[in-house]
Amino acid sequence: MENCPFCKIVERRLPADIVYENDRLLVFKDINPAAPVHLLIVPKQHIPTLSDCHEGHAAILGEMMAVIPRIADQQRIGVVGSSPQTRSGGYRVIINAGPDGRQEVYHLHIHLIGGPRPWKDNK
Ligand code: 5GP
Ligand code: ZN
Repeated sequence: MENCPFCKIVERRLPADIVYENDRLLVFKDINPAAPVHLLIVPKQHIPTLSDCHEGHAAILGEMMAVIPRIADQQRIGVVGSSPQTRSGGYRVIINAGPDGRQEVYHLHIHLIGGPRPWKDNK
């Protein structure tokens, strides 16, 4: 898509701080981070919103979710410890869809937001 910023990042027509890439998806730092770690997980194919997805998108949606624990560990925000007393780390995973969901960029993406509190806002 000619004027889509995330397609431009995928095609290297716009710079971004890329932390992971494979044939189907790209992960890069949000330009306006809401927390110490704020990454966007983006499919390389242009899908405007989650509302455009159906069962045929299960593989790419699943892969976008399934890559998160590994990325989180790389970024040192993964959940560690197995009891309430020892558990630490963690993150939020958010998809905004449409105007009421406050979606700004109409190329599907998952926000991965984490790191030590406080965060900038309560997104
Ligand atoms: P949305 O509200 O659509 O879920 O979130 C879009 C996100 O994309 C925002 O957090 C915004 O800061 C980020 N963003 C918008 N344009 C760019 C860009 O050109 N590069 C990067 N790295 N992030 C962007
Ligand atoms: Zn796009």
